[in-house]
Amino acid sequence: MEWFKRKPAPPPTERKEIPDGLWTKCNSCGEIIYVRELEKDLWVCRTCSFHFRIRSTDYMDILLDADSFTEYDVGLLSLDPLQFKDSKKYPDRIAEARKKTGRNDAVIAGIGAIDGRQVSFAIMDFSFVGGSMGSVVGEKIARAIERSLDRQVPLIIVSCSGGARMQEGILSLLQMAKTSGLLARLSETKIPYISVLTNPTTAGVMASYASLGDVIIAEPGALLGFAGRRVIEQTIGQKLPENFQTSEFFKDHGFLDKIVHRHELRKTVALLLDYLSQ
Ligand SMILES: [Zn+2]
Repeated sequence: MEWFKRKPAPPPTERKEIPDGLWTKCNSCGEIIYVRELEKDLWVCRTCSFHFRIRSTDYMDILLDADSFTEYDVGLLSLDPLQFKDSKKYPDRIAEARKKTGRNDAVIAGIGAIDGRQVSFAIMDFSFVGGSMGSVVGEKIARAIERSLDRQVPLIIVSCSGGARMQEGILSLLQMAKTSGLLARLSETKIPYISVLTNPTTAGVMASYASLGDVIIAEPGALLGFAGRRVIEQTIGQKLPENFQTSEFFKDHGFLDKIVHRHELRKTVALLLDYLSQ
């Protein structure tokens, strides 16, 4: 049974230039910030350090050496094995996302370099159906892990996802087992895997490869978790703490190794690669 096919990606929609003099308000402290300044600060508020959500390509600019990245598996595209329809038909939803993002699915994967050290790199794109993991995302992550194994290079996955893609039902859940199984193989070979969690990383992605890093780091204030707060409260019949499902809560409870400010992200990942590759 085939779950995906090859098809060229549509041309990306042009990034809208930010007009001069545009201001925005910090979602956290309410400070009015000049957008160009914010851009220079890597979209972190100078007043309260709130981390605005940025695009997958921005993370690539932050983390990877310039012009070092070669993308793989660009043409993988979801089929519609379940003929799924919610408010829209699944193929229509995918077509819309492809048009909006210029990508074929919710992850970019390939080979790049950080401080001259080659890495297998994958990053999720939240703007593509909420960064959800269907068979294409699972397959591309699996291949990224295999590239690490083949080339004996560290693996970096930057996660940003609402979880499994419901429209692909059990096939999306299957990706959790597939990626986790391959990561177990990677672990046996002692090749380092650094998992970077950004806002939000939840559900099926959090419950598989995102939480299986040798080192797991997250941006401050990111929403992390499996089920939603309301579902858990209803299930356990208890009120949950205010900061529940944040990076800070995860760190305090041993699920995270380190919370890293966006300005320190590249330096931290490079340092970890250094330590782990000794
Ligand atoms: Zn702020």
